[in-house]
Amino acid sequence: MTPTPYLWTPPPVYSLPVRGMAERLPVNRLFFVGRNYHAHAVEMGRPVDKANERPFYFTKAASTLVESGATVAYPPETSNFHHEMELVVAIGAPGFRVSESDTPALIYGYACGLDMTRRDLQLVARDKGRPWDLGKDVEQSSVVSEIVPMRGRVLDQGELVLTVNGQPRQKSDLSMLIWNLRELIADLSKFYHLQPGDLIFTGTPEGVGAVVAGDRIAGHIYGVGEITLTVGAAE
Ligand code: MN
Repeated sequence: MTPTPYLWTPPPVYSLPVRGMAERLPVNRLFFVGRNYHAHAVEMGRPVDKANERPFYFTKAASTLVESGATVAYPPETSNFHHEMELVVAIGAPGFRVSESDTPALIYGYACGLDMTRRDLQLVARDKGRPWDLGKDVEQSSVVSEIVPMRGRVLDQGELVLTVNGQPRQKSDLSMLIWNLRELIADLSKFYHLQPGDLIFTGTPEGVGAVVAGDRIAGHIYGVGEITLTVGAAE
């Protein structure tokens, strides 16, 4: 077959290593859940009333993906670059308008994730009613560990911890999620035809904070694994 001629080299297939597998997981879309731990919602000044609200989402381009262990440049146009430690769900089967009881069949596995954020720009956008993209869709801001295959398994508990230079910053448990994994996958599938390779960052607990050049971030989620990131100098 003759390869399609392009003016320049097209973007790569973004992918992640999978524990115990030679094959890598090809990444499709990156979905992020907004406020999904009560204590974090409170620290952001926007408490959540689950009885009267639905979860909300934002997305980032797959090109923002970075593997655990990387060093990323401190990003431009911010002076308040924040860490957000999160459980990432890797979708492994298609689903649209999935019932909560059917959501486990969509789960391929899990990873640790960092939703790195230009907090100053996100808050300006939020308060002016503008899109969050400049605060959230930051180059090299979607950091993910290796994917751990756990087909059909729903994680509903497990400690989640983040340290910066060895100092504790975030500590919570998956049992503290406002919307649990079944609820999130079912709800998101009402808006999108979920596809294999979609990743869902399930929200961060309290303790988000700023990092500076030279900082070393380390996180772990019990039963899933570990993640590290080093913040380099600004370009
Ligand atoms: Mn987040």
